[in-house]
Amino acid sequence: MPRIFLPIENSHETIHITGEKAHYIATVLRCRAGDSLTVFNGRGASYKTVIVSITKKKVVSEVVSITKSETEPPLDLALIQGLLKGDKMDLVIQKTTELGINRIIPVVTERSQVRSTGKTARWRKIAEDASRQCGRANVPLINDPLVLKDLFSLNHQSVLPEEVSSLIFWEDGGIRLQDSLDNIGRTNRPFAVAVGPEGGFREDEVRMAEAHGFTAVSLGSRILRAETAAITAVAIMQFSLGDLG
Ligand code: SAH
Repeated sequence: MPRIFLPIENSHETIHITGEKAHYIATVLRCRAGDSLTVFNGRGASYKTVIVSITKKKVVSEVVSITKSETEPPLDLALIQGLLKGDKMDLVIQKTTELGINRIIPVVTERSQVRSTGKTARWRKIAEDASRQCGRANVPLINDPLVLKDLFSLNHQSVLPEEVSSLIFWEDGGIRLQDSLDNIGRTNRPFAVAVGPEGGFREDEVRMAEAHGFTAVSLGSRILRAETAAITAVAIMQFSLGDLG
């Protein structure tokens, strides 16, 4: 069944769709009146609807039922990601969205080769498309880039949930991730994982993170590219504490 993202609040009888979404439904999905269409609002609700009228400019769809998605993982996981060059951030955002990430916080670190990007709207579209493709009801929140030190000085309360358990992935040290997960055991606390940019975290950044409650963890002896580390870290966390596999 064709599925589109529309950030609507709780809807009642009919959903009115205009603009590029209407054009997409009419010309790309080639829907017609009478067809079924699922609309998800990115915050947990999926509306099963039947199209009652459709043009390239406007679609009116009647709500048949509202379902709470079964595709959202139980783990509230955030990724703090050192800004990456080129389209590597696109890849990390797409893959971690499929893996069930809840929030992505791009950070500028000492070794970031990218300081500002103006790509946040692009990243949010990538997250939206990935959520639609994999059948999620939620779309991960993508923060505007923050300076890593500010994340700590804000005491990260404005961007990370209360009581978050935070891990910083450090190829030059840290305990084995497995040992850290064994120590944590099964829990429904929110988690944040921090992965550096291409040049990695500086030691003083890791020490500052530890001073703010982060645990430095290792993914083993091989040095992974940042995008590999981010996708792997999220997959392991979702396998260990979420609903992957
Ligand atoms: N400093 C390395 C590259 C860092 S890789 C070099 O100069 O080649 C980018 C990020 O991926 C790191 O900051 C870290 O967060 C993560 N990462 C890569 N390999 C890792 C490993 N074996 N253990 C933990 N984190 C790793």
